[in-house]
Amino acid sequence: MSQRPIDEVLVATSNPHKIEEIRAVLEPLGMRVLGLDDVGGTFPEPEEDGATFEENARIKAIAYAGMTGRACLADDSGLEVDALDGAPGVHSARFAGIGSTRAERDRANNALLVARLRGVPPERRAARFVCAMCLAEPNGAIVAEARGAFPGVIVDEPRGSNGFGYDPHLLLPEEGRTSAELSPDEKNARSHRGQATRLIASALQARGARRGAATS
Ligand code: IMP
Repeated sequence: MSQRPIDEVLVATSNPHKIEEIRAVLEPLGMRVLGLDDVGGTFPEPEEDGATFEENARIKAIAYAGMTGRACLADDSGLEVDALDGAPGVHSARFAGIGSTRAERDRANNALLVARLRGVPPERRAARFVCAMCLAEPNGAIVAEARGAFPGVIVDEPRGSNGFGYDPHLLLPEEGRTSAELSPDEKNARSHRGQATRLIASALQARGARRGAATS
């Protein structure tokens, strides 16, 4: 049976930063990228109770694809800090557990990160952003999965105003800049999300090519 090509994906998030970063990679390849706000309606949030980024990405992709009847791309991502045994990891979004707006949560999370690393010397501050992505169809079939990682070190002083979340605290030593000091294009060229999105795009292009071969 030949596979239907996928030229439109719904990104299963209301985080505008994630949508923009994913759109910047997929739209130049001719794919339409929608966010939850574009498809109207309110959808009950599935419980993200997976132990890994991969499990949570799968939970979100399958749930939203089923609820919306659309091919759905879910990103589950976060920060792993070696000196904190991988925390905040899958709990990155609500690390501090307070704040009702995204900006408030980011501020509280960043303050807690800096507090937890007090006294840890620069050479023991290795960390990375990780992103797991899953693309699922409305019937629950998984089309593609991918992972990307973006390593750096955590600095106490926030720098830069681009991006979101922990970006101002992840320094890229070889650049001498934090992730929040990169332009959107520079971040996407290096980031966990950029890498994962490009892998998903390659899988979709391969699927399109296979279908072309099957029908020619
Ligand atoms: P999720 O929406 O459950 O995947 O939570 C992701 C959380 O990880 C965000 O709220 C941020 O705190 C953090 N995070 C993920 N990706 C990034 C990034 O690209 N920059 C900064 N923080 C990120």
